[in-house]
Amino acid sequence: MPLTIYNTETKTLETFTPRRPPVVRIYTCGPTVYDYAHIGNLRSYVFVDILKRVLLHQNYRVQHTINLTDFGHLSDDGDHGEDKMLKGLQREGLPLNLESMRNLSDRYITAFQEDCQALRILPPTTWSRASDYVREQIRLIKTLDLKGYTYETSDGVYFDIARFPTYGRLGNIDLESIKSGARVEVNPEKRHPADFAVWKKGELGWDSPWGKGFPGWHIECSAMAIATLGKQIDVHTGGIDHVHTHHNAEIAQSEAATGRQFVRYWMHNAFITFDNTKISKSLGNTINLRHLYDRGFSAGDYRYWLLLGHYRSPLNLTFEGLTQAKQALYRLKRHQYEEFAGQPGVVSENHMHRFFSALEQDLDTPAALAVVWSVVREKTMTPGNKFATLVAMDTLLGLGLQDEKQTGLQTLGVISQADIPTEIQDLLQAREVARNSQDWTEADRLRDVLATAGYKVEDTASGQRLLRDDHI
Ligand code: AMP
Ligand code: ZN
Repeated sequence: MPLTIYNTETKTLETFTPRRPPVVRIYTCGPTVYDYAHIGNLRSYVFVDILKRVLLHQNYRVQHTINLTDFGHLSDDGDHGEDKMLKGLQREGLPLNLESMRNLSDRYITAFQEDCQALRILPPTTWSRASDYVREQIRLIKTLDLKGYTYETSDGVYFDIARFPTYGRLGNIDLESIKSGARVEVNPEKRHPADFAVWKKGELGWDSPWGKGFPGWHIECSAMAIATLGKQIDVHTGGIDHVHTHHNAEIAQSEAATGRQFVRYWMHNAFITFDNTKISKSLGNTINLRHLYDRGFSAGDYRYWLLLGHYRSPLNLTFEGLTQAKQALYRLKRHQYEEFAGQPGVVSENHMHRFFSALEQDLDTPAALAVVWSVVREKTMTPGNKFATLVAMDTLLGLGLQDEKQTGLQTLGVISQADIPTEIQDLLQAREVARNSQDWTEADRLRDVLATAGYKVEDTASGQRLLRDDHI
């Protein structure tokens, strides 16, 4: 079956065909690196990771760029609000200059790449950092200028959307209502309120034909997509909030400059809320992976939780929901390493076909996970075949079912005999005696005592087994 994906531009599910197979070119809007990426941001990179794994499985060669915005992103996607990088510098008491901006972003780029690695996101072929591509951005603005798509004002250079008749085609923007609804005082020099800055004049920044300043936020993605992937790319991804302003601006700039269709398929992930509230710095409820680690969750738990939802469905994170995901992933690994591992087997083509067909339907990860569990529960399959099939499925899901091969039991939290403190061993021994004499009341009491001490005891066919509580 062919891969079908939902294209935001046509609002339909379309069969995926790249321009120049076997290569697929993907551009992903990356984070603004003035702080840690929050868990909502991370969904944008997990969903494209699934897309890449599906394409790699279909033997495409994937060229993928994720950009890193290290200047110029204002808190409002239009041309208003505070500059996020400057806000980061102020927050950390750093001087407002290009060098400290670079240092600040170095730190958060490293943190973001660590997050991606922890989430088992395959690295892109190119990480493009906006401040490394200022020349390309200036060149693109010059081209737009020469072709008559821009005009200069006292505070910058603006893209004139009236010169680009299909402006706003992503998400069907109603330009007339934007015009009549706009606040006049915002920027009287703009010809249309939806015109956007391609250059912002200022005391800080780089030299350009329009004076010192910064490229506008949108131009960075057009310039870096063209520089790293070419004038026409297959897939462009990002969060749903980017559709109206950022991505319409990218289309206008790129197509005005090159005269060709910029992107074939636009893909957008829906938002994550936390406790039914928008994740936002101003509301003080940003939550990142480190907060999850502090609560005893792993990046893998979060990835599993994300895959339980379809990338186009809004999801609300709660610690209860994440705990359920953690337990499910833990059970999956337990089955894999304690029941299925260690025996020869082959991949079940039938299950694999059902699994892959789900992913080919616009990356339906919840349906794919349902097939994973049907393998676990399958009555007629041998443990070896289950193991092989789950490993094959995991090359697409990236849950780490292969990596634990060597250290399976240890990472699952099963404690070796030598590491059990004497008093706990005594309690276990007493419980064994109670069990043997079928004194279930005493056995249950001792289980509770062990639980209070931070240990979970399980009764298995081969006797009692002790687990660290933080792995449950
Ligand atoms: P930013 O650093 O603001 O440019 O955002 C990085 C990526 O995260 C972009 O693709 C955004 O669209 C996306 N994003 C931002 N907030 C959320 C959220 N709450 N849920 C899902 N994606 C988000
Ligand atoms: Zn972008």
